[in-house]
Amino acid sequence: MLSCRDIKRMFNVITMEGLYLAPTAIMKCPNCTGLFLSGVQQKTKLCPYCCKSINLQNALRVAQAVNALEASEMLKQLKAKNAKNVRPKFRRV
Ligand SMILES: [Zn+2]
Repeated sequence: MLSCRDIKRMFNVITMEGLYLAPTAIMKCPNCTGLFLSGVQQKTKLCPYCCKSINLQNALRVAQAVNALEASEMLKQLKAKNAKNVRPKFRRV
């Protein structure tokens, strides 16, 4: 049985190799409301915060960027906004 940490490590490898330059979405975990990056083609993803397997079709897509680099910048800004209690407008896509 793989531990949550093992699965996360495997997933990080996949993310770095396969999705780094692919269109990347910022998703909101429906379980813990944490924000994380995901390839737009991905159907499931393990939440890096609560370690729950998320069906991305049911998750909220907060934003989309042309690649993972840009997405991680956007995510940083979103987190900074959240920290100041200025909530971005979420909408379902
Ligand atoms: Zn979560």
